Amino acid sequence: MRRSVSILGATGSIGTSTLDLIEREPDRFRIVALTAHSEVRKLAEIARRTNAEFAVIADERRLPELREALSGTGIRAGGGAAAVVEAASSGADWTMAAIVGCAGLEPVMAAVEQGGTVVLANKEPLVSAGELIPQAARRSGATILPADSEHNAIFQCFDFARPERVRRIVLTASGGPFRDLSLAEMAHVTVEQAVAHPVWSMGAKISIDSATLMNKGLEQIEAARLFPVAPERIEIILHRQSVIHSLVEYVDGSTLAQLGSPDMRTPIAHTLAWPDRMETPVTPLDLASIGRLDFAAPDPERFPALRLAREALEAGGARPAVLNAANEMAVAAFLDRRIAFLRIAAIVDETMHRYDPAAPRRIEDVIAIDREARSHAAEAMKVFVD
Ligand code: NAD
Ligand code: MG
Repeated sequence: MRRSVSILGATGSIGTSTLDLIEREPDRFRIVALTAHSEVRKLAEIARRTNAEFAVIADERRLPELREALSGTGIRAGGGAAAVVEAASSGADWTMAAIVGCAGLEPVMAAVEQGGTVVLANKEPLVSAGELIPQAARRSGATILPADSEHNAIFQCFDFARPERVRRIVLTASGGPFRDLSLAEMAHVTVEQAVAHPVWSMGAKISIDSATLMNKGLEQIEAARLFPVAPERIEIILHRQSVIHSLVEYVDGSTLAQLGSPDMRTPIAHTLAWPDRMETPVTPLDLASIGRLDFAAPDPERFPALRLAREALEAGGARPAVLNAANEMAVAAFLDRRIAFLRIAAIVDETMHRYDPAAPRRIEDVIAIDREARSHAAEAMKVFVD
């Protein structure tokens, strides 16, 4: 029996890597639903090629175009946010959540509520909704597996039967394109320089988050949601080669790590085959030719996003949702060339100090906090428009 899979965010970087693996094994997987934001042609092409059952474009205005592109194929077309949620709950055994940002929140919840295996690449919903997602998984019996390379590494090394024997978990960070720049040099970096990651090839938003190191801050919060480890035991180390994807240290002094070439197809394949393993075309690790692995402590002076995320993690409640919403707004403004690079963290900082709502108790609360935080961030941004 072929395993049924759905991919939310099928046209993006993670979506493409996921499809690459699935399409290599047509006898093993069959595609139920695919979604994208507005890339109609690309979505229709993938849906035709993979013979998907249901293709959804989030931007509803593009639905007529999608229908046209799929006419005669028998593939059902859908449009709008509700159709994305429908795609997320279309009964697949395995769902890849690879939408970017909190736009993925309701689809992730829908996938988790229907059960099955839900693979989270889309980290922002987990940051903002916190415990509500793991709680929903416990209710429905869904299995959440992490695709983010660090969390997938930790998942592979973590002894879930004895979490009290874990002394700390250490997330590795490549440091992004500006790891060797001073603050003064970072003041004038361009969008092109910021999206050019030295090691990983990714979507624009996470590339900017990697340049500010907010990505590592979000990942620290993500780790606290996924693993039974106290926030103060989740640390970050700079490791420029991105060969060690993260580490788990035990009380006896043993440290376990997962290593591999920096290619997202390895952690994605881990979640596709889990608890088994599957072949991938990823270049095997050649440590002799890599020669050396470097490590350094992160610098919260040059990368204030680390301090802000740590603050949000320790405060808990609605803070991570506010941090995330403000960051999404600020990153979008930087990508639009409306603000300078260093303003991203400044806007997050300002928003977190303007808006401190009560902890969300339901998903509707998270959505309201996210919306409100965005309007506070827009206000904060007016001060910073260059
Ligand atoms: P991307 O920008 O390449 O792709 C995003 C996908 O989501 C696209 O298919 C796009 O059409 C869709 N999308 C965008 N906005 C949407 C909206 N409002 N509604 C519905 N769909 C929307 O992003 P990516 O790099 O593939 O990252 C996806 C997620 O995975 C992010 O949360 C990112 O942090 C996480 N992640 C990515 C990587 C990576 O290597 N790219 C690694 C770890 C985690
Ligand atoms: Mg990561």
